[in-house]
Amino acid sequence: MKAIIFDFDGTLTYKNSNIWRSIWEGLGYDVSAGSLYSNLYSKFIRKEINYQQWCDLTCQAFKKFNLNKKFIDNISTKIRLLPGIKNLLEFLKKKGVSLHLVSGGIKSVIEDVLGENTKYFDSINANVFVFNNENYLDYIRGTEFDYEHKATFIEKLKERNCLKGEDICFIGNGDNDEWAYLSGCKTICVNPDNVDVNNKLKWNIVFRNLNDLEDLIPVFKKIFITSLTDEENSF
Ligand SMILES: [Mg+2]
Repeated sequence: MKAIIFDFDGTLTYKNSNIWRSIWEGLGYDVSAGSLYSNLYSKFIRKEINYQQWCDLTCQAFKKFNLNKKFIDNISTKIRLLPGIKNLLEFLKKKGVSLHLVSGGIKSVIEDVLGENTKYFDSINANVFVFNNENYLDYIRGTEFDYEHKATFIEKLKERNCLKGEDICFIGNGDNDEWAYLSGCKTICVNPDNVDVNNKLKWNIVFRNLNDLEDLIPVFKKIFITSLTDEENSF
């Protein structure tokens, strides 16, 4: 195993309300079916708008309520990492594995929540909130790597580092993670949320209730001492 890609929300953190939803709700927007929040999501899923357009329309809605940096910082304080993250990341780093985070969340929030654990990641890929001089939201730069493009990230990583699919593992939890397997990498689903856990093609191994990220260490120990090309030893 040479590289591991993590999702963030609900994978490295306790399952909580989606960060985007928390912002909409926090600003006082309705998030029920038929709301602007829900309609924008549906339009994106139906491919009526692209990811950046989704971000632009979301940004417009946030700006109406003068979203500022303080509000986002406050949301960060409510997100908690699962225990064991430091030991897991340290273990993998010592094994020489490159670690990447590919999230549909917000980069500054992820870095705030990770704190000193940020240093273990070779890259953190997520949406960027750009604030103006007065710390009010100006623009949301959509990530290139959400939904089916989580697989695009892995493809690029393979190309750049001459890696094979079997050298890479993706760990995720949600419906925006279900394309990762298309890159040929191994996949682990933790604390599934709205995913097809019975689909072994999409998810090679599933932890339905992972309470401590250290519990993933034995899985990786097994991977490091066995050949992933050997069917019997694969997940
Ligand atoms: Mg997630």
